[in-house]
Amino acid sequence: MKPLTEQEIRTAFVNCTKGEARRLSVPRDLADRPWDDLDYLGWRDPRSPGRAYLVIELDDRPRGLVLRCPSPTNTQSRRGMCAMCLTSPTGGVSLMVAPKAGRAGQQGNTVGTYLCSDLACSLYVRGKKDAGAGARLPESLTLEEKIQRTVANVAAFVANVTS
Ligand SMILES: [Zn+2]
Repeated sequence: MKPLTEQEIRTAFVNCTKGEARRLSVPRDLADRPWDDLDYLGWRDPRSPGRAYLVIELDDRPRGLVLRCPSPTNTQSRRGMCAMCLTSPTGGVSLMVAPKAGRAGQQGNTVGTYLCSDLACSLYVRGKKDAGAGARLPESLTLEEKIQRTVANVAAFVANVTS
């Protein structure tokens, strides 16, 4: 994805108030992020381990989601599978819950999914970060197809949040 500025990231969020988007923790090392290898930018909130964020570019427009991790310290004994990149990383997956955009979100409606706890899907798919033995099932898909599938899964999640 193309590099984003802090301002672009803050204005991308679709499921929080403008005030929240202004205050939330944006990574300080944006210049050092491996943008060429990212399908989405994802990060945990350093001030609040129960919160995470992801930003993906869809139709040339960055869209961002605020996510809550209801049990940030609950390490799973069984390794789960990330619903976005279909990896079962040794670092684990976390249930992440996004408040729905707009009125539905104000009424408390949410959409949840299992995501790599470190939000490093893009790097696992490309083999740029070691997910551990047996973390990825052998598949006949090309790398490009796996990347497209991950992007499609994240896009579908964003669509669920904004629908
Ligand atoms: Zn993943």
